[in-house]
Amino acid sequence: MEGASALRRFLLPALFVGALFALLFLRGRNDVARTGEWTFRGPTMGTAWTVKIADPELEEETRDAIETTIQQTVALVDQRMSNWKDDSELSLLNRHDTSPYPVSGELLGVLDMAIEIHRLTGGAFDITVGPLVNAYGFGPGDPPRIPTEDELKDLMARTGLNKLTLNKNAGTATKKHTDLYFDLSGIAKGFAVDQVAAALEELGHADYMIEIGGEIRTRGRNGSGEIWRIGVEQPDPTLREAGRIIPLLDTAMATSGEYRNFIEIEGVRYSHTIDPRTGKPIDHHLASVSVLHQSCATADGVATGLNVLGPDEGYELAVKHGIAALFILERSNGSLIEHATPAFEATLERTREAQQPDPVIP
Ligand code: ADP
Ligand code: MG
Repeated sequence: MEGASALRRFLLPALFVGALFALLFLRGRNDVARTGEWTFRGPTMGTAWTVKIADPELEEETRDAIETTIQQTVALVDQRMSNWKDDSELSLLNRHDTSPYPVSGELLGVLDMAIEIHRLTGGAFDITVGPLVNAYGFGPGDPPRIPTEDELKDLMARTGLNKLTLNKNAGTATKKHTDLYFDLSGIAKGFAVDQVAAALEELGHADYMIEIGGEIRTRGRNGSGEIWRIGVEQPDPTLREAGRIIPLLDTAMATSGEYRNFIEIEGVRYSHTIDPRTGKPIDHHLASVSVLHQSCATADGVATGLNVLGPDEGYELAVKHGIAALFILERSNGSLIEHATPAFEATLERTREAQQPDPVIP
């Protein structure tokens, strides 16, 4: 009896743990043997990051160093730009008054990009919609609810990116209204992807895929020596499977769509994206919009801006500015149609050409 219970108490758990280790170890090895890629994963910004590096020869020590570098990079972006953390640099700026506030180079850079995207999208992308986002219960704090018209009017009075000025030489940000509150959720994930890319390049890697919460950037080739292929998710929250496959060569792709994040109040779905012109959640038949750009931060912000503008106005603006964008619209019967801008088609065409093997010159 004694022996049997000791076996149960020590040996079985030990066997179980051992088997688990063996399984994980073998899986990692088998995966890299099959795909030629090492995969790294971790949590960040309320979502997850995934990095694949197409170099089967990576030593364990190098892999540990890569993992640590990625973790530190995303943690630093989070510490600067999260409005879910009370002590983040962004939260300190949000609580600051109207005197110039010294900010880090990274935060200044992202605020500057946000102003540029705000201009490009005719005000549709606006990081000052934070109070409205929070009023609907999408941000940190209150549960979901619908604000009253009076509340909306009051909140709209203290939004607008024209109430922010940057002094790049002095490295300061100045709010024209004490209650101005920034929400970088529509651009920070893309920026974190760019920062991870820079960190990987610094370590000498040139064949990788980085993904944070659906925002992606690739460089070089995958483990099979081909261009990385990325699936655009099916715009249906119950189907987390890839729809269209897009080859991505040395570029970033960000997708904005309410299928990923919405709240339901009394059976009605509300998007977490706010139209700054009305102060209300967007309400149109655009299932998702994906944007290709060299910078993932830009792709991220522009995708959110085009999503606000919707299938008609957004498409027109994207064509006018030569933005590579793929709009996926939902018809009333639930079926989906795609609408790509000429710049999107051109990028795909160039990628397909690059995929062809080099012609053999006799
Ligand atoms: P999506 O992938 O659907 O665009 P993102 O996470 O990129 O989602 O951006 C949406 C988030 O950005 C919202 O959760 C909100 O915090 C914030 N946001 C909402 N509306 C706007 C807007 N008009 N401009 C900029 N940011 C917005
Ligand atoms: Mg976005």
